[in-house]
Amino acid sequence: MIIDGHCDVLWKMVEHPEIDFYDPHQTALDVSYAHVVKSDIKIQCFAIYLSEAVRQPRFDHYLEYINIFYRKVAQTDKWIVIKNKSDLEQVMNGTKRGAILTLEGADAINDHSLYTQILQLLGVRMIGVTWNHANWAADGVLEPRQSGFSNKGKRFIKECNDLGIILDVSHLSVRSFWDLADHSAKPIVATHANARAVCSHPRNLNDDQIRTLIRMEGRIGLTFVPSFASGGGSASIDSLLRHVEHICALGGEHNLVLGSDFDGIDTKIPGLEHAGHFANLTEKLSRYYSKESVEGFLFGNWHSFFAKNLPAL
Ligand SMILES: [Zn+2]
Repeated sequence: MIIDGHCDVLWKMVEHPEIDFYDPHQTALDVSYAHVVKSDIKIQCFAIYLSEAVRQPRFDHYLEYINIFYRKVAQTDKWIVIKNKSDLEQVMNGTKRGAILTLEGADAINDHSLYTQILQLLGVRMIGVTWNHANWAADGVLEPRQSGFSNKGKRFIKECNDLGIILDVSHLSVRSFWDLADHSAKPIVATHANARAVCSHPRNLNDDQIRTLIRMEGRIGLTFVPSFASGGGSASIDSLLRHVEHICALGGEHNLVLGSDFDGIDTKIPGLEHAGHFANLTEKLSRYYSKESVEGFLFGNWHSFFAKNLPAL
């Protein structure tokens, strides 16, 4: 069983509406229904991604994703859209799979509380406030000034806390990370980022950040982006294992989760080319870690986090 905290398949489907998520013969998607079944992905998080190529972000860009998510992916005979704790337990104890709608890039919310509330009603349960650059709320990891959250952004943190929307640090600048850690009343997560001490990439987390996520009972999603896995030479599943080892050494055994970034990446780690390949990772992890630890990494740690942090109703 797998719980994956981040993929960009909705982005591919918005860009290429002809792609059929359920066609077992299509090869355009990393996360296809056939791959989900093959790897027994029990819960998949689906990101609404507001591309920075969109010069004037509008709320209906989000609606386009949400429309495709409900119509073309999360068909109700196969999926339960997880919005609260009871949906989560229904998925974990039943035969259907769980889909969680997430958002990467709050640009088009633009300080409109109504938009945040509507997104919450439509099912959005995690938000990464920025992509790589700055918006009205905060600076992203590649914004040259490397500033943190604006006052509006700080109000947005509280609003998400109150609505039961989990906040994701993945693309934030270092200062934005600390602003969020200071202002969030709820645990925060990195849905898709690795350890900077192992691979020095700006999208990876330094040890202080990892320790803080652990202390806040947050989660750190091991991600399969080759350039975040290995700084020099080619990335492999063994490179990912070095991140697992490092995060566990910092005390994160119960905080480490998965966030593949499938369909958001062009290059792949050999053996992890698409979402049908999780068994290769499981096999490698099982050589070095107990069954209990491996189950925690693959699904248990995400499950316990969602069980605690999704809204009750
Ligand atoms: Zn991302």
